[in-house]
Amino acid sequence: MQIKRNILLNPGPATTTDSVKLAQVVPDICPREKEFAGLMKGLRNDLLKVVHAPADQYTAVLFCGSGTINIDICLNSLLPEGKKVLVINNGAYNTRAVEVCQMYHLPHIDLKSSVFERPDLALVEKTLQENDDIAMVYCCHHETGTGVLNPIREIGALAHKYGAIFVSDTTSSLGMIPLDVIKDNVDFCMASAQKGLMAMSGLSFIIGREDIIRASKNYPTRSYYTNLYLQYEYFEKTGEMHFTPPVQTIYATIQALKEYFAEGEEAKFARHHRVYEAIHRGIDKLGFETVIDPKIESGLVVSVKYPDDPNWDFEKVHDYCFERGFTIYPGKISTSNTFRLCALGAIDEPDIVAFFESFTEALDTFKIKHR
Ligand SMILES: *Cc1c(COP(=O)(O)O)cnc(C)c1O
Repeated sequence: MQIKRNILLNPGPATTTDSVKLAQVVPDICPREKEFAGLMKGLRNDLLKVVHAPADQYTAVLFCGSGTINIDICLNSLLPEGKKVLVINNGAYNTRAVEVCQMYHLPHIDLKSSVFERPDLALVEKTLQENDDIAMVYCCHHETGTGVLNPIREIGALAHKYGAIFVSDTTSSLGMIPLDVIKDNVDFCMASAQKGLMAMSGLSFIIGREDIIRASKNYPTRSYYTNLYLQYEYFEKTGEMHFTPPVQTIYATIQALKEYFAEGEEAKFARHHRVYEAIHRGIDKLGFETVIDPKIESGLVVSVKYPDDPNWDFEKVHDYCFERGFTIYPGKISTSNTFRLCALGAIDEPDIVAFFESFTEALDTFKIKHR
C-alpha cells in the first residue's frame, strides 16, 4: 500500500510512520475481549516507562478523547473539598486549564504572566505561602502556543514544599523531551497518542500517583464521563476502559511505542532537536524573525513573526505549501501576528530543508520579500 507522506509542521497530530498507520488495519475485535484487555495492560505499562514512572507508585489511565480531556479530568477529579487550584499561566494551554476551573466553578488562582517569558518562581512561592488552601499546582510543561518550556522541576518542588500536588500538562513534550516524573517532581502528567508518541488521535492518557487517585475517591465528583477515579477503578477491576475505547488508535499506539523504544529516548530527543535547529536555520536564512528567546524554547515549536510586507498572506503561503505536502500552522499569541513551525513527528532534517524550498518558492510566487 502506497500512502502519501505529508510533513506536518503543526503542533500535532504529527507525521506518522507507515507502520503505525498500517497497525490500525487489523481483524475486527470486540474491545471487551480478554485479548484486548491484555493489549491495554501492556500499553499502560509501556507508558509508565516513557516517563520513568515506578510501577509501584504510578499508574497510567487511558481515556477516549483528544488531549484536552486530560486537563478536564485532572482538574475536576483531583481537587479535595474546600481547596484551591493554582494555575501558573503563561500561555494558551494554561489558560485552557483556567477555563476548565471556571466551567466547574473550582476555586482557583490564575497566576497570569507574560506569554513571552517563563513564570516567576519567587511569585509562585509567595502565592503558595499566602494561600495555604492550595491543594493543586498546575502548569503546562511545554506551552505549545508559544514554544516556551516551563521549569516544571522547580515548580513541582515548590508545590511539594507547600503540601500541594503538582499536575503538569505534558501533552506536547511527553515522548520528545525526556521526562522523569520522580526527578521532575510530577505527580500527574498527561498526553494524547498523536503528539510525541507519533500515533493517531483519539487516545489520551494520564500518568499519575496511584495513592492520590485512590484518595480522590472521596473528593467531590464533578463529572461522570471524565472522572479519574471511576476510570481507574474500572481498569483495576476489569482491565478495560469503562466505555468504548478507540480500538484502532490503541493498535497504532502499541506500534508507535515499539518504535519509540527502538529509536530510544535520547536519539529521539536529538532528532527533534535537529529538526528544530534546521527550522531556525531556515528562518534566519530568509531574514524572518522569531518571537521567543531560544534560551527558553522547548525545541519543538518555533513561533515566527509575520514579515512586514503587504504581500504577506498566511493563507496563500499555507495553501501553496499544503499542495506540496507541507502543513504550516497559525500562531496562538493574541498580541502579535505569528505562525508556527513545529518539530514533532516522524520527520528529520532533510524534510525541513525540502520544506524551506517550497516555502521560499511560495514567497517568490507571491512576491513576498525575503533575504
Ligand atoms: C495539543 C495540546 C493539548 C490537547 O489539545 P487537543 O486539541 O484536545 O488535542 C493540550 N495541551 C497541550 C500543551 C497541547 O499541546
